[in-house]
Amino acid sequence: TIIVAITGFSGEDARELSLIAGCDGYLTKPIDIKEFPKQIKAFLQGKRELVSEGRREELRKQYEQTLVNHLMDKIKELQKSNSLLKSQREKLQRYNRNLEILHQVINRLQLCSTPESLRDQLLKELGAQFHFPRSAFLEVDHEQILLRVTETYGLESEKKWGDIRIRYNAPVFQRMFRDQQLLIFRELQEVPDSHTRKVLRKLGAQQFLFGILGSPLREADAIKSLEDVERLFDNLIPTLYNQQDVDIELIREHLQEYLSSEILYIGGYVFIDLPKDRGRLQPYDIKILEMLLRTAGLLYQNLRLREQLKELFVRAEKDAITDHLTNLFNYRYFTQQLIRECNRARRHKSRFALLMLDIDFFKRYNDAFGHQAGDMVLKKVARVLLDNTRSSDFVARYGGEEFVIICPELTKDEGRQLAEKLCHIIATTPFPREEKLPHKKVTISIGVAAFPEDTQSSRELIHFADAALYKAKDLGRNRVHSYRANDKK
Ligand code: GH3
Ligand code: MG
Ligand code: MG
Repeated sequence: TIIVAITGFSGEDARELSLIAGCDGYLTKPIDIKEFPKQIKAFLQGKRELVSEGRREELRKQYEQTLVNHLMDKIKELQKSNSLLKSQREKLQRYNRNLEILHQVINRLQLCSTPESLRDQLLKELGAQFHFPRSAFLEVDHEQILLRVTETYGLESEKKWGDIRIRYNAPVFQRMFRDQQLLIFRELQEVPDSHTRKVLRKLGAQQFLFGILGSPLREADAIKSLEDVERLFDNLIPTLYNQQDVDIELIREHLQEYLSSEILYIGGYVFIDLPKDRGRLQPYDIKILEMLLRTAGLLYQNLRLREQLKELFVRAEKDAITDHLTNLFNYRYFTQQLIRECNRARRHKSRFALLMLDIDFFKRYNDAFGHQAGDMVLKKVARVLLDNTRSSDFVARYGGEEFVIICPELTKDEGRQLAEKLCHIIATTPFPREEKLPHKKVTISIGVAAFPEDTQSSRELIHFADAALYKAKDLGRNRVHSYRANDKK
């Protein structure tokens, strides 16, 4: 192959160096279009341009030097991109390591079973895994619009922290968290609110982070989730609650109020102190922290919801069986309990007595001193009944000023004795202004019936005790009457 250099670069050095580098010829531009085919033909027929003998050695040296310089430049370039790659790889490795740590931390947080233990664990992880030696958890007190420090980590003056209150409507929390998970303060002066600044100065904080545990509130998100739940609600409720006594509108109202409140989106705030000797946080450090706080926030909200639900269930269950004025069991629960007691006594071939009580002339007391004074008497009578019966006895408010007591294992006669004792105790217990009553004191009448002496039916038992009670009223009140067959009304 014949090689001819064609170039715009003229000059004797360039021509000779090209020939040294291995060209057979050297033509300069512009090309003469008439001459060019002849020139090429000459090379094809064996023409070779040569460098003069005397210059050859010097030019070869020059050429080799150019080559060496060129190669050196290339090597430098390669070294540069190599070290860039290395630092990228290190960065990726670090990122990867952090992700792995994050994964493990989240796994451990998932094992926490209460909001308190999660808060505590989170601060510990921030210290041990992410090397933040001082941190604190700030819980939102929505009623008092305050942030309270509930947990701290690595802070010597724990007690001081416990007393700290930061106003939740302080600008630092109001404005700055709207769209961000994490705020970094390089110096105290950046905190826009003087009160918070003062608190932080007292704690010796200079550069620090505030993070949201949960997701920053975005109004559009809140509205969207509200709509989602509304839809779910509309589809589910009719099938779930086919009962008459459930006020669906009320539930819906509570739900809306709840879903549009910030409580659902912000579980609390985390304060993280940045030690002075710690270098600048890299963007990916921040990203990892954000991921941690977001996920921990979700876990935290779940735990809090679970606790609230548990509380609601316990309260609803207690509500359903309690009479609110006297705190005794209510009528509904009494009827269930009476059926259970009948079944139990039948199975074990045992017995029990049923006492039905009614306050004498109570209407007059109410009329004379008002309903509220009457309520106080009802409460006190309930207290006396509880204090003077066994814990195995079941005391309930039957209605208005009537009470019932189930006394397991008592015979009819033992039931009567207990009833007489209660009658006596009430009659001798002082009540406010009772002297205005016909008996000049608050008294009760009691009817007694028993299982199985009178009947084995729970319905009849109530009926008989009631009949006995009215017999006691007939006989002059402030007394006990045990059911007899001819008491039937
Ligand atoms: P007797 O000796 O025949 O039982 O007379 P009484 O006035 O107690 O009987 P009656 O059944 O006529 O009246 C019951 C009264 O109890 C009617 C009402 O004024 C009162 N009462 C019922 N429930 C409550 C309540 O929750 N609070 C108060 N303060 N009074 C009640
Ligand atoms: Mg009465
Ligand atoms: Mg009555």
